Amino acid sequence: MSSLLTERAVNRFWSNVRKTDSCWLWEGYRNYGYGVFSVNRRLMRAHRVSWIMAHGEIPKGLCVLHHCDVPACVRPDHLFIGSQADNVLDCIKKGRHRQRIPTHCKNGHLLDSDNVCYRKNGWRRCRKCRNLDRARSRKRITIAPPRAR
Ligand SMILES: [Zn+2]
Ligand SMILES: [Zn+2]
Repeated sequence: MSSLLTERAVNRFWSNVRKTDSCWLWEGYRNYGYGVFSVNRRLMRAHRVSWIMAHGEIPKGLCVLHHCDVPACVRPDHLFIGSQADNVLDCIKKGRHRQRIPTHCKNGHLLDSDNVCYRKNGWRRCRKCRNLDRARSRKRITIAPPRAR
């Protein structure tokens, strides 16, 4: 891939970049916040091109991720390489993942590993609520009364 980047392409690449004290921002066309660079009629993510210029080819199946969490940043030392799983984890950590895993059930019980059970269909279920539901159906009452200690 790096051999496909001619000097002209490299110059064109850097002409789209504005260097700040921290991030080097892609000022050209962006898609979902990521810089897009076309080389040999192929569209590539600009930060991936930057990685390739700095380090060579990206191993198959791996992604180029941002330390700085700025998608448009193409500064090589803000980039690191990781697997797709790292990418997903990274997004969850940074709160960008669309499907956030809920931390509490609808009744406000904390859904930690002690309090989560799984239904047959793989859905997460609050154990406390499930136990309450079971107790209710056993006693045939609608609301479990608070227990005095
Ligand atoms: Zn950056
Ligand atoms: Zn609950």
